[in-house]
Amino acid sequence: MERSLRIGVVGAGLGGTTAAGLLQRAGFSVVLYDQMPAFSRLGAGIQLGPNVMKIMRRLGIEESMAAVANEPQYWCSRNATDGAYLSRIPLNADRARYQAPYITIHRGEAHQIMLGAVDVANVQFGKCLADLHVHDRGVRLSFMDGTSDDVDILIGADGLNSCVRAKLLGPEDPLFTGWIGHRGMIKASKLAGLDVGECVKWWSSDRHMMTYFLDHKKEEFYFVTGEPAESWPLGVSWVPSTHAEMHKSFAGYDPLVRAYIDAAENITKWPLYTRRPLPVWHRGRVVLLGDACHPMKPHMAQGAAMAIEDAAMLVRCMSEIETNDPNTCFEAYRHHRMGRASRVQEVSNANTWLRTNEDPSWVYGYDVYGIDLHA
Ligand code: FAD
Repeated sequence: MERSLRIGVVGAGLGGTTAAGLLQRAGFSVVLYDQMPAFSRLGAGIQLGPNVMKIMRRLGIEESMAAVANEPQYWCSRNATDGAYLSRIPLNADRARYQAPYITIHRGEAHQIMLGAVDVANVQFGKCLADLHVHDRGVRLSFMDGTSDDVDILIGADGLNSCVRAKLLGPEDPLFTGWIGHRGMIKASKLAGLDVGECVKWWSSDRHMMTYFLDHKKEEFYFVTGEPAESWPLGVSWVPSTHAEMHKSFAGYDPLVRAYIDAAENITKWPLYTRRPLPVWHRGRVVLLGDACHPMKPHMAQGAAMAIEDAAMLVRCMSEIETNDPNTCFEAYRHHRMGRASRVQEVSNANTWLRTNEDPSWVYGYDVYGIDLHA
């Protein structure tokens, strides 16, 4: 597509920020909008596999991310009650196979580094999209603050409750999965003397706790859980929780898990949502990526990864396919992404990933830049 086009990206989450950074590098004129006035250092961790780090390489930030993150050698699954090992799967211990690291990192840290890959002149915070109007020559964006802007192409990377998705397909509430997640941060000094694994998922029949370090120095430790829950109040994105509530939920778990709960600070509780598969990912000059089109339960730690892979594939299609027709580019993007995103969504929702020894290479070995766009 012509590099003179002005591309608007709504949503500066991990997917939208990747899209903006790669579009900028491909020579497009890009504006990245987000409703937030600024991003705070949300108390959460994220795992980013080699499939993502190959894209960070293209943004020029693979090394800066890896320098602050932890690089676990193995993924381990353990039985909740007796601590028995159910799986031990090489991550960085098999680095040569994947040609990129597997990192665990503070989510806010990762996001800041990614935003640093986008020219600040191209980022507009405090811009909450309220409406959009597609016309012959482009898309008019109207924001909650009363301002508007015109772009030639619009990328909706605005997450689970995407305004862009609602304008394309009509409003529809996301579906509560019947699961919630607790998140907690731990100062590693509080775990002195305990046999803390680098990247371990603790499993029982109906719930789990994922644990890992967030930094190179192993000073911050983190857990995120998956637990069944009957309901969640609509429109509430998270609530504070307590040690007592977690102890009740994880009664009978190994003493190490109970020590993590005791040591945790700022425990929060989050609903896990999904959506039915979307009938369309794009229409005219508007295209969706990430949670805006395929949210999933986070049990495979690949939700953000799929948003980032989407962004990379979309930018490849826009810059490498020789056409000025947005529909041709966007249809190629959908074609190359839908099967993989749906498969990951399915495995993630089933919550079986790496519970037993399996070969994870179809996920971590994927290289978006190795895909033949014309296949
Ligand atoms: P988001 O990250 O949701 O970003 C959307 C952006 O759009 C936000 O910045 C928002 O402010 C902005 N926005 C929204 N509406 C508007 C509007 N109207 N106007 C302007 N801006 C707007 N994934 C992993 O890969 N690894 C993990 O370890 C992992 N752990 C998780 C743990 C939990 C508990 C949960 C709930 C999810 C986890 N995920 C993980 C999933 C991951 O968080 C999401 O899949 C990912 O954030 C989706 O990225 P995105 O860019 O599509 O959307």
